[in-house]
Amino acid sequence: MKTYRLALIPGDGIGSEVTDAAMMVTEAAASRFGFALATESFPWSCEYYLQTGVMMPEDGIETLRDFDAIFLGAVGWPATVPDSVSLHGLLLPIRKAFNQYANIRPHRLLKSVEGPLKADSFDILCIRENTEGEYSGAGGRVHRGNDNEVAVETAVFTRAGVERILRYGFEQAKARRKHLTSVTKSNAQKYSMVFWDEVTNELAAEYPDVTVSHMHIDAMAAKMVMAPHDLDVVVASNLFGDILTDLGAAIQGGLGFAASANINPDRSAPSMFEPVHGSAPDIASKNIANPIAAIWSGAQMLEHLGETEAAAAVLVAIEAVTAQGIGIRPGLNTTDQITAAVLAAMEA
Ligand code: NAD
Repeated sequence: MKTYRLALIPGDGIGSEVTDAAMMVTEAAASRFGFALATESFPWSCEYYLQTGVMMPEDGIETLRDFDAIFLGAVGWPATVPDSVSLHGLLLPIRKAFNQYANIRPHRLLKSVEGPLKADSFDILCIRENTEGEYSGAGGRVHRGNDNEVAVETAVFTRAGVERILRYGFEQAKARRKHLTSVTKSNAQKYSMVFWDEVTNELAAEYPDVTVSHMHIDAMAAKMVMAPHDLDVVVASNLFGDILTDLGAAIQGGLGFAASANINPDRSAPSMFEPVHGSAPDIASKNIANPIAAIWSGAQMLEHLGETEAAAAVLVAIEAVTAQGIGIRPGLNTTDQITAAVLAAMEA
């Protein structure tokens, strides 16, 4: 029997609650579709940082390298560890070390879920560049604390980085409704974003069956609210994609529904799957976190591992559950009830 090795990093707050839920459903999919999961859990989190002074051990990346995939719950506990420490100590190093340059976030309204918009149907695949751009980490501060203090943060766009994320977007669009929207701010940012537009146009020539729209980030934010049904695949830089996908989560009913995958498309290292949401300290340990985002991220993981039937079955089960009105609003059902309903739907 085919066995996949999974590294689990439940993390902080509701991270462990939703990881448990996602793994129960992923295990159920494995037994139904005839494959096995060998999971190993790592305690890397803010709690771990308080005990050891690091978010993960020095050989953490090497430890993860041999796994087929990584599943992460959520990391962050701002009351005790600054977010810049927890993010730069764990999540970002993993994304960069494993070249997980494509961050994939599906936004669509599941059955019976009422989003804040009048729109009743949209299906957007947001693809966010995940390794460079505005979050490249290039910059510095001088004259700290003085009146002449300077802080510089440099956005870095390489041809290799821009081309590969756009190509990934074109391939996804080709397999879907054949429409790609490239998001920039090339009217104001005349170097990096004009460059991004040029690379988009170069690649467009290779994909004659894909229609391309160029949108500025501000107009795009409005479009996601006014006409989300017009969008298919959306490709954006690290910062723009980060912001747009929180908007995407909001219009699909909230963070409890927003899944994400950090993909290394050439498969030279493991990819990482995690819900978009954070550790939600305000609802941690209350058994009220919505596990659907994490369960959906688990389905993305199965898809990436090649278990496409199992992935589809998980999505069908999630939607069967929301169609019954379960988990569609915060506070309506407990984490355990929603998970049990998805497990029951998997068996049906
Ligand atoms: P958050 O996503 O944790 O929570 C924002 C709001 O959404 C909260 O009111 C929370 O209760 C609610 N929420 C989030 N997920 C939910 C779910 N599954 N079900 C129901 N309600 C849910 O964002 P935040 O409060 O800004 O951040 C908290 C911590 O998480 C911070 O330390 C932050 O840095 C970290 N964070 C981590 C990740 C990650 O690990 N990928 C992502 C975002 C934030």
